[in-house]
Amino acid sequence: MKIKNFINGTFEDPKSKDWLDNFNPAYGKVYAQTPNSSKKDVDLAVKAAEKAFPSWSHTPFEKRNRILIKISELLEIHLDKFAEAESKDNGKPLSLAKAIDIPRAASNFRFFGNAITQFSSESHDSIGENAINYTLRQPLGVVACISPWNLPLYLFTWKIAPALAAGNCVIAKPSEITPMTAYLLGDICNEAGLPKGVLNIVHGLGTTTGKAIVEHPEIKAISFTGGTATGAEIAKTAAPLFKKLSLELGGKNPNIIFSDCDYNDMLETTVRSSFANQGQICLCGSRIFVEATIYQRFKTDFIEKVKLLKVGHPSQESTDIGAIVSKGHLEKILNYIDIAKTEGEILVGGNQVIIPSFKNGYYLEPTVIEVNSNNCIINQEEIFGPVVTIMPFETEEDVLKMANDTNYGLSATIWTNNLKRTMRLSHQLEAGIVWINTWMLRDLRTPFGGMKASGVGREGGLESLRFFTKTKNVCIKY
Ligand code: NAD
Repeated sequence: MKIKNFINGTFEDPKSKDWLDNFNPAYGKVYAQTPNSSKKDVDLAVKAAEKAFPSWSHTPFEKRNRILIKISELLEIHLDKFAEAESKDNGKPLSLAKAIDIPRAASNFRFFGNAITQFSSESHDSIGENAINYTLRQPLGVVACISPWNLPLYLFTWKIAPALAAGNCVIAKPSEITPMTAYLLGDICNEAGLPKGVLNIVHGLGTTTGKAIVEHPEIKAISFTGGTATGAEIAKTAAPLFKKLSLELGGKNPNIIFSDCDYNDMLETTVRSSFANQGQICLCGSRIFVEATIYQRFKTDFIEKVKLLKVGHPSQESTDIGAIVSKGHLEKILNYIDIAKTEGEILVGGNQVIIPSFKNGYYLEPTVIEVNSNNCIINQEEIFGPVVTIMPFETEEDVLKMANDTNYGLSATIWTNNLKRTMRLSHQLEAGIVWINTWMLRDLRTPFGGMKASGVGREGGLESLRFFTKTKNVCIKY
């Protein structure tokens, strides 16, 4: 099967005829090919987008709303097909793709389709000057959306939907590791009546296709989600070209557990926040800090629960942990587990899993490592797999220091029923998102993004619409 680019409303082979193998991680086998698009393909996509822009940017917002809602409805109608494709491409449990990934992709279109009907801007009455200032927020033109492999359609549409809603034309590149659902989205956009050229999807490697997108002079903004090193590379290229940038990058998030928390709720959620999606969520709480007074109890109970998690084929109902996304990523995680053997003690897991019927698949046990310091490689570098560390802490001051002692600053979770402590810590934690007594509770209206090496800029709700528009002040004297 050949995945194709979606340019100007039609499916195209890459001009260079350069193709990449696309793997099914559950079997470790190639099942499709995806274009490795060159500058030529990106140029064609940009030309189509430029041509579509005058009309799309002047399309009344009610009509844009109707088209985006239609895309959302079509995704819901085809939920099973998309969920199966996502699970096959990424290795995530089918149940997860059905419950989270595809419904959220549909929500993204519905949310931003509706949000544009409520988007307004300020006016300032310059009293004493007999003047009024009003703010225009206009679409930027052609913009780019580049997304990673861990939540393929979920994050791809999180960027595309607000960009389109705000009246931009889009060049979008999914990860070369998980291109399938982005490919399927093209048909749905045509069926929903999205005019040709408004959304163009080009596939390929970051170093060829991604680079050509970032360097393209006519692309005015880049919304990127992916690794911190890639974000830095993109910023280096885009800054002298004065492109608008939103960078959603890696994380090494603390999960801080105090003895006064609702214990059972904490335990259940901590299993999820450690291992959901094989631990391949930028928001996973990979550094678990537990108040010393309940540390032994937590350690015993957590290990017991983790042992119950079933590693298996993504399509099986009973599977909790599916396949790791790629062979390369599995090897990277195993390298970190090797390092862990010298830095801490592996309490559970740590091994590749060979499932007899799928023996070439990329499976790994959920792994818990006990460490006695935050100052080690496995607590400082993003592993992005089913691997967490646990360690005890004595005081609030100690744990705050350790939580912030990392280059990253994406999210943090605190488990406590102490209100004053909650307030103190949420103010002092260096993280863009702080969850108290919950994890991954997402309201699409809220600002989303990281601090420090976890990124620059915010997406979500009005922040996304602001990112994808340019602001102009008009001053009228009367
Ligand atoms: P990655 O940086 O390797 O790739 C992300 C995307 O960027 C892919 O589409 C890739 O092809 C493209 N790319 C790579 N090099 C490029 C370049 N030089 N120019 C332009 N594009 C380029 O990341 P990944 O391995 O796909 O994803 C995992 C990372 O994403 C993790 O670090 C994770 O924390 C992060 N992530 C962050 C968030 C967030 O919201 N902050 C969400 C999900 C994942």
